[in-house]
Formats: sequence, C-alpha cells, structure tokens
Amino acid sequence: MFKKVLIANRGEIALRILRTAKELGVKVVVAHSDVDAKSLPVLLADEALCIGPASSAQSYLNIPNLLSAAVVSGADAIHPGYGFLAENAQFAEMCRDYGIIFIGPTPDNMRALGDKANARKVAREAGVPIVPGTDALVDVDEAKQAAAEIGYPVILKASAGGGGRGMRVVHNDADLERNVLQAKEEAKAAFGNPEVYLEKYIEEPKHIEVQVLGDGERVIHLWERDCSIQRRHQKLLEEAPSTLPKAVRTAITESAVRLASHVGYKSAGTLEYLVDREGNFYFIEMNTRIQVEHPVTEMITGLDLVAEQFRIAAGEKLAYPQDQIPCRGHAIEVRINAEDPSKDFRPSIGKIETLHFPGGPGVRVDSHLYTGYSIPPNYDSLVAKVIVHASDRDKAIHRMQRALFETALEGPGLKTTIPFHRKVLENAFFRRGAVYTNFIARRMSE
Ligand code: ADP
Repeated sequence: MFKKVLIANRGEIALRILRTAKELGVKVVVAHSDVDAKSLPVLLADEALCIGPASSAQSYLNIPNLLSAAVVSGADAIHPGYGFLAENAQFAEMCRDYGIIFIGPTPDNMRALGDKANARKVAREAGVPIVPGTDALVDVDEAKQAAAEIGYPVILKASAGGGGRGMRVVHNDADLERNVLQAKEEAKAAFGNPEVYLEKYIEEPKHIEVQVLGDGERVIHLWERDCSIQRRHQKLLEEAPSTLPKAVRTAITESAVRLASHVGYKSAGTLEYLVDREGNFYFIEMNTRIQVEHPVTEMITGLDLVAEQFRIAAGEKLAYPQDQIPCRGHAIEVRINAEDPSKDFRPSIGKIETLHFPGGPGVRVDSHLYTGYSIPPNYDSLVAKVIVHASDRDKAIHRMQRALFETALEGPGLKTTIPFHRKVLENAFFRRGAVYTNFIARRMSE
C-alpha cells in the first residue's frame, strides 16, 4: 500500500478520500487553494500545501503546482476525486512520468471512454446498445440527414461535455442549423473541443448507471443506481438498487461488465444508461472516476469503493468473484446543495451558524461543513450528502424523512435543497418509483 497520498480535490470528496486513507494507514497531504485553508479536510490532514488562489484554474486545475506539491511532500500517489483533473488523461500520464501513482484508470482507459463520441464507438464494438445517433458531426448537412433518419426530437451533445453541460434538444430542421453552430462554439469555449454529435432524444427515460470495478484483467459490477431525479441534467437524489425488473437489471449490469472488460478497465468506473418505458436500455457515457453518488452502492454492497480504488492502483487484484457481491436492502442519497430551490436553484453562500446532522440506525452523512465554516463562492454548491440504508425502499424513504427532520443547517441568508428533498420524498409518484429524468418538471412544477 502507499505511504502517502496527495488529495488533489476539496470539500466532501477530499474528506471522503482522507477517511479511507487513514483507515488504510496511508498518510494524507491535502493540496488546497488559499480560500480552503480552513476547510475540514485541510484541518484533518497530516500535511497541507497551498497550491494557489481561489480560482480553480490556478489551484485545483494547476497541474505544475499539484505535481510540485506531490514531489515536495514525498507523496507516492495522487487521488483526484471527481471533477477537476479526475478525467484528465494527460494529468494521469504526467503523474506516471513523475513516478507518482494516479489513483484512477489508465490514461488509455480514459482516452477510450472519456470522449463521449468515442465511447459510443467502443460500446458498439463491445455489442452494447447505444442511443441511435451519429459519430462526431462533420457539418450541418450531415446533422440534417441524421435527424431525418432518426426522427425529431434529437439532442446535440459535446463530445468533451460533462456535468450536464453542452447539451441542446432540437425539435425541427429549422432549429438544427443554428443549434449545431452554436453548440460547436459553446463546446469549444467550455471544453476546448468543438466536436459535437447527435442522438435521438429519448422521452421520459430513467437514468440508470452501473458501478464497476476492474483490475485490468477482470471486471465486476456492483449493481446499479437510479439517478433519474435531476434538474438541468444534474442529479439531486440517487438510489440503489433501481426498481427495474430483474431481467433488465441482469442485462444492463452484464452489458456494463462487457463494455468495461472490452477496454481492460482498471479502477472504479460508472457506465451511464437511459432506459425507456419498454425497458430498452441505451449506453450514453462512462465516467472514469469515483462519483458523487458512490455511497448508495457502498450501503447495499458493504464495500468501500475508495479503498478498492487504492488497492487496485497499488497493483492488487480484485478480491471477490461476482457472485460474492451482495445487494442488500435499499439506499437513498440526497445532495444538499447550498442553493435556493425557490429561486431556480440559485447558489446561496454564507457562514454556518447552526449545524446538526442526523444519526441513528442506517444513516450516513458525508460533509465537510462545521459550525463557523464559511462556504466559499468559488466552487460547486454541494455541501453535504445524507445517505440512508434500510431493508426496503419504503423503509429507506421513511428513514430519509426522519433523517432530514433531524437535520439543521443554518446561517444568515443560507438556503439549501433540503426543503426540495422533503417534497420529493412525499411525492406519490416518487413513492411508487415512477421516476424519470423529467420528474421535476412534470411532477413538482408547483
Ligand atoms: P453529462 O456527461 O453532462 O452528465 P450525459 O450524457 O450523462 O451528460 O447526460 C446527462 C443527462 O442528460 C441524462 O441523465 C439525461 O437526463 C439527459 N440525456 C442525455 N442524453 C439524452 C438522450 N439521448 N435523450 C434524453 N435525455 C438525455
């Protein structure tokens, strides 16, 4: 196992990685921006190094400073968390050049799957169904021809897109030309790559994703999560397992193992799918990193996914055959964001004056907040994840309601997504598992 890991991230995920590192006996260096100097992961680390000012470009995305911090502190591994440099193949390669282990997939894995248009090709080769659509578009005429074959509505996506950004739904030929050109401009500005492609827009799908672990030789799955409760293509509540019929669950998890095996995947990864009303599933993309919602999978399997990432990166082989991966009970996670749901989820920042997290049976909280902490305005608005586990879905819903009832997270002017989650948990459609990616627009509009 490693002696010292540098965590190239912040917030709840930096803390999450720190916790596992401590349990594995690995010393922790936290690389942080100046505004994060008093953040909980920094306070709990064995060592902390400031790598730049608040702006992510100058700190959490600053490769020379991160590598210098790793070298100076004598870290033998780097964990990138999610976001920032987690899916940057060049960064992974540079770590290798400096003799530092990147805790994540190989640069080749990332290149094969990180680019969405390319991931579609890999899926096709592996015999995994994809949404009807195109490769990277050459010009507007090609887009028009493809849309005529597929039928409207279609969705334009940036090959390098992520985080729910870089997508446009188009309903007719007249709008297509303008949108293709705008989408290319936008993709170039946001992701540094103007490539876009087109897919059939699936109406009212479920977003289902399969967690996999690979050691470079063998891939296993850790069941699936349902992440259909989204706003602007961003997840807000996730659960595991899904409420899909057993046959669909089996087929989708098998297909994920097939795809990940096809590229000799090494580390934890997630294959995302859309599932239509008939139970047809279509691969959309793979995230080659740990995900925000990984705790629901940890709850139903009893495994520590971050520890698995450490072990695989250290060269160990997977310790379990597929049939020893349990799927016990039901888990739900809610993302508590510092946002105002009544004002179109506008970011809300402030100082935490009152903080009380829930406890009791089957409750877990992943959060870097503490009383007196000021949420900086520079980063993602996720401030806490409340995760519950119970023997079935109904009990998990009741447990989450109880947990949110106990939660207090207050400060002057501070608004969170907690009231929103309370409404979702009460909703009759949610209660019976009738969740689709347009759930909020359709069922919670009032
Ligand atoms: P990102 O990488 O930005 O998260 P994804 O490709 O994973 O983008 O898609 C995010 C979400 O966008 C999906 O969960 C779904 O709600 C919606 N979406 C993506 N592709 C389609 C599609 N072809 N039809 C309908 N909805 C889609």
